[in-house]
Amino acid sequence: MIQKKRIAIFGSTGSIGTQALEVIAAHPDKFSVEVLTAHTNDELLIKQSLQFNPNMVVIGDEKKYQKVKEALAKTDVKVFAGEDSLEEVAAMDCYDIMIAAIVGFAGLKSTLSAIENGKTIALANKETLVVAGDIVMRKAAEKNAQIIPVDSEHSAIFQCLTGESRNKIEKIILTASGGPFLGKKPNFLVNVKRDHALQHPNWTMGAKITIDSATLMNKGLEMIEAKWLFNLRPDQIQVIIHSQSIIHSMVQFEDGSMKAQMGLPDMKLPIQYALAYPQRIQSKFPRYDFKKPNTLNFEEPDVKTFRNLTLATDALNKGGNMPCILNAANEIAVFAFLRNRIGFLDITEMVERTMNKISFIASPTLEEYFESDGEARNFAATLIQM
Ligand code: NDP
Ligand code: MG
Repeated sequence: MIQKKRIAIFGSTGSIGTQALEVIAAHPDKFSVEVLTAHTNDELLIKQSLQFNPNMVVIGDEKKYQKVKEALAKTDVKVFAGEDSLEEVAAMDCYDIMIAAIVGFAGLKSTLSAIENGKTIALANKETLVVAGDIVMRKAAEKNAQIIPVDSEHSAIFQCLTGESRNKIEKIILTASGGPFLGKKPNFLVNVKRDHALQHPNWTMGAKITIDSATLMNKGLEMIEAKWLFNLRPDQIQVIIHSQSIIHSMVQFEDGSMKAQMGLPDMKLPIQYALAYPQRIQSKFPRYDFKKPNTLNFEEPDVKTFRNLTLATDALNKGGNMPCILNAANEIAVFAFLRNRIGFLDITEMVERTMNKISFIASPTLEEYFESDGEARNFAATLIQM
C-alpha cells in the first residue's frame, strides 16, 4: 500500500484551507489530515475536526479554547490554543506537508517553524516570502525543506519549470486578472466602497487578497514572491493583464521559447498539484473548452492608476526591509478599508507614506524584520485618522 501523505492545514477555515480539505476529501487514499488551525472560526474548526479526525487542532483565539475542547471531548483530537501553539504544532512530527494558508504576516512564524523542522511547505501565504524571503529561502535550503507554491501564478511557473532545471530563464510573465476595476480611473476609484471591491470577476477568495487584487497590490506582492521562489532579478519579472485568468503565468527561456500553464480558474488545481507533487493525480475540476467562443486578451497594466504596482516594484528593486514595510502598511490599510475607515485610493497613499517614513535596513535579521513590521504598522495606523 502507498503511504498516505500526512497534511497539516494552517488556516483551515479560510478560502484556501477549505478548498484544500475538498481536495483531500476527494483523495482519501492519498492524503490524511493531521493538523487543522483556525483563528476565530471555532464552529467551522469543530465541524472540520469531526469530519476529518485530525491528530491535533489549534484555535488561535484563546477565549474559544474551552468550547472547541468540549465539542471534541469524545474524540482523540488534541486541542491547543494561542499564537505560540501554532509554532509549536508546526514543529511536530505528526505531519509531512504544511499547507501554509494563514493570511498575512501572521503566517510567518509557523511557516518558519515548519521549515526549521524540514517539512514540505505548500505555500499559499505569499506574505511570508514578501516579508522575509531571503531568510525563508536560506533556511529552507539549509533544512532541505521543499517549498511548493500554491499561488496560481507561481504554481504555473513551477509547473513550466519542471524538467527545465538546467535551462536559463530569460523572464517570467505573471498574469493578472486586473480585478473588478480593470480600466477604471482615479475619478471612479475614489468613490469605490468595500462591497464593490470584494466582488472579484474570476476568483472567490478571502477578503484581504480580494482587496489586494482590486488594488493590484496582489500582483506586486506576487512579483516579490516570484523573485524569491525562482531566484530571479527584478528585471526578469513582467506583469501582464489577462482578464480571463486562463493562462496562469508563463516562462520565457533564453532560446525565446515560452511555456504557459493553462486551465479554468480554480484554486483546487494548484492546491492539489502541490499536495500530489511530483505526481499529477486525477481530478473532476471543470475543463477549459476551446470549441466554445473564446478570446484571450493581454494588455499592459495601468500603473499610473494602480500605483500599488509601482510601489511594489520600488520595494522589489530596493530590497532589504522595504517589502516588509510595504506589506505591513498594506495589511493595516486593507483592514481599515474593509472597515470603511478609509477610501480605496487611501490604501496606496498609506503604503507610500509608510515606505517613506520607516528606516531602511539593507540586510535585516529576522528580529529586524519583526521590528520593521511593527513600526510600519504603528505608523500606518496613525494615518487612518487623516
Ligand atoms: P482567508 O481570509 O479566507 O483565510 C485566512 C485563514 O487564516 C483563516 O483560516 C483564518 O482563521 C486564519 N487567520 C487569520 N488571521 C490569523 C492570525 N492572526 N493567526 C492565525 N490564523 C489566522 O484567506 P485566504 O484563504 O484567501 O488566503 C490565505 C493565504 O493564501 C493568503 O496569504 C493569500 O494571499 C493566499 N492566497 C489565497 C488565494 C485564494 O484563492 N484565496 C490565492 C492565492 C494565494 P479564521 O477564519 O478562523 O479567523
Ligand atoms: Mg495569485
